[in-house]
Amino acid sequence: MSPPRAPEAEIVQDMTSPRDGGFAVGPDDDSPNVINVIEVRGLTKRYGTITAVDGIDFTVRRGETAALLGANGAGKTTTIAMVLGLLLPDAGIIKVLGCDMLANRYQALARMNFSSPYVDLPRRLTVRQNLEVFARLYGVAGVAARVREVAAELDMTALLARPSGELSAGQRSRVTLAKALINRPDVLLLDEPTASLDPDTADRIRGYLAAYQARHGTTILLASHNMAEVERMCSTVFIMRDGRIHDRGAPRDLVARYGRANLEEVFLHIVREKAAQ
Ligand code: ATP
Repeated sequence: MSPPRAPEAEIVQDMTSPRDGGFAVGPDDDSPNVINVIEVRGLTKRYGTITAVDGIDFTVRRGETAALLGANGAGKTTTIAMVLGLLLPDAGIIKVLGCDMLANRYQALARMNFSSPYVDLPRRLTVRQNLEVFARLYGVAGVAARVREVAAELDMTALLARPSGELSAGQRSRVTLAKALINRPDVLLLDEPTASLDPDTADRIRGYLAAYQARHGTTILLASHNMAEVERMCSTVFIMRDGRIHDRGAPRDLVARYGRANLEEVFLHIVREKAAQ
């Protein structure tokens, strides 16, 4: 994984920018008719001679969970960073909740959030302090109560008083997820949401995310290398290869179409087919 820059630092900077005049701003086109909550057309990102993302198109519908899959370096993180508005594309269009993220991202950002294991929270602040800072940045009402609530929901109340720098990798993942949910986002971007979590905690987190989504109608786009997780959570997958979307569909349709036993076998087939070329 090669994150373009520290996204958390940028989003904090973005969201405190005087240009948007605050957080509680709704997007221009926030009608229930916005069915395609995430809409990407011709999205391209180059790093020097490397084309990390090569003219991709996809949509994620309201209330859907979709996954970006692909081998290391396929372009998943770069895509997520561009959808968040953290990284400028070289070409293409990104709309979230009807907002053009290139022209007007501050409005949509207030209703989005993300988690990534590659984002470090300030280490000397306790978990509670970190979550309170983010709650304030997102303009959450009743900060202390919301922090207590999200910590209880994610079964991490015992972590609140701990300095963030002293947490294990799995504990940090849970805190990052709590951060991602602090503003009850309508759109959630999750980069490897269960990385480092033990199987029990990962299973609980998946269950929690599904329940949260059912309750709030959240639209989720995630990147994951865990195919069982994707089969369980996602109604659509986009399989990336060399910056392009090589195939897409519902996990069970892809499994049937490739004549495989599960999504992991489909993934291995696609990746190894490329390696054999
Ligand atoms: P992984 O599964 O390893 O996390 P990924 O699918 O998320 O991979 P990206 O991190 O999006 O892949 O990287 C896509 C391509 O872009 C890779 O070839 C990577 O080396 C390159 N890349 C990513 N960030 C940068 C950067 N800041 N500078 C130069 N090249 C980069």
